Amino acid sequence: TLHREQKPSWIKVRLPNNPAFWSTKSLITDLKLVTVCEEAQCPNRWECWGQGTATFMIAGDKCTRACGFCAVKTAKPDALESDEPARIAEATSRMNLKHIVITAVARDDLKDGGAEHFRETITAVRQVNPGIIIEVLVPDFNDRDWALQLVMDARPHIFNHNLETVERLTPLVRSRAKYQRSLTVLKKAKEMVDGHVATKSGMMLGLGERREEILTAMDDLLAHDVTVLTLGQYLRPTPKHLPVVEYIHPDQFEEYKQIALEKGFRHVASGPLVRSSYHAADFRPELDVL
Ligand code: SF4
Ligand code: SF4
Repeated sequence: TLHREQKPSWIKVRLPNNPAFWSTKSLITDLKLVTVCEEAQCPNRWECWGQGTATFMIAGDKCTRACGFCAVKTAKPDALESDEPARIAEATSRMNLKHIVITAVARDDLKDGGAEHFRETITAVRQVNPGIIIEVLVPDFNDRDWALQLVMDARPHIFNHNLETVERLTPLVRSRAKYQRSLTVLKKAKEMVDGHVATKSGMMLGLGERREEILTAMDDLLAHDVTVLTLGQYLRPTPKHLPVVEYIHPDQFEEYKQIALEKGFRHVASGPLVRSSYHAADFRPELDVL
């Protein structure tokens, strides 16, 4: 364990001067879109944008929740923009995306938690771009099955909902979320489409979780039919956020990956800079479930 303000060498991010980065940036600004890449200050922006990949955040940039790890601002959200689905769809065709990740802030102010907006966005993207793989990264919709059903009716290929951390630390890390509710959402989403979706979840390590707790979370995810796992290092966005308890060595991430594969996950991305959507396109769900 290192001093918490001192980042180890493997966390350093390359800053290549990549023209694709700048064209992605201007396109996103042009279409007035919000990306998680920017909102969450993701360390992989240069790499992902340089490859023409981005994670779009719909339903605004203000969240009704305030998770202790998250850089998205908490505030009263704005009204939904009805032309946003079309703008996202246009971005996918202009960027020539083969794989899109669509996510949203938690809209606890809306009855459906933003589910209908997800449905419209998925539908618009598929219309413009029929061959694209669509991954959604969704909030928990507060146990409202009918809202979850709206999202699943649009038939995303990959359904992603993050546990973010082990059970014991969930109240600290995701104050308004519940560990078991997240597991249930993952299981229900798959049941709603008779298994024709790949389900995916992820955790940030370095928040003080213990090894056995990580292995238990893996077992819990598998017991809820989740087949894709991401594990990454938690990085503190600002001093107001939860401190990093530990920087996990890359070898340790690799070991967790091997354990997860042995336990039965089909695809695992595990490493210090892995984020929920990092190299998302490496997983081709059509080989497994479609
Ligand atoms: Fe961030 Fe999502 Fe938590 Fe909102 S619900 S604070 S966007 S992690
Ligand atoms: Fe964006 Fe995800 Fe890549 Fe980060 S890992 S830059 S959030 S696509």
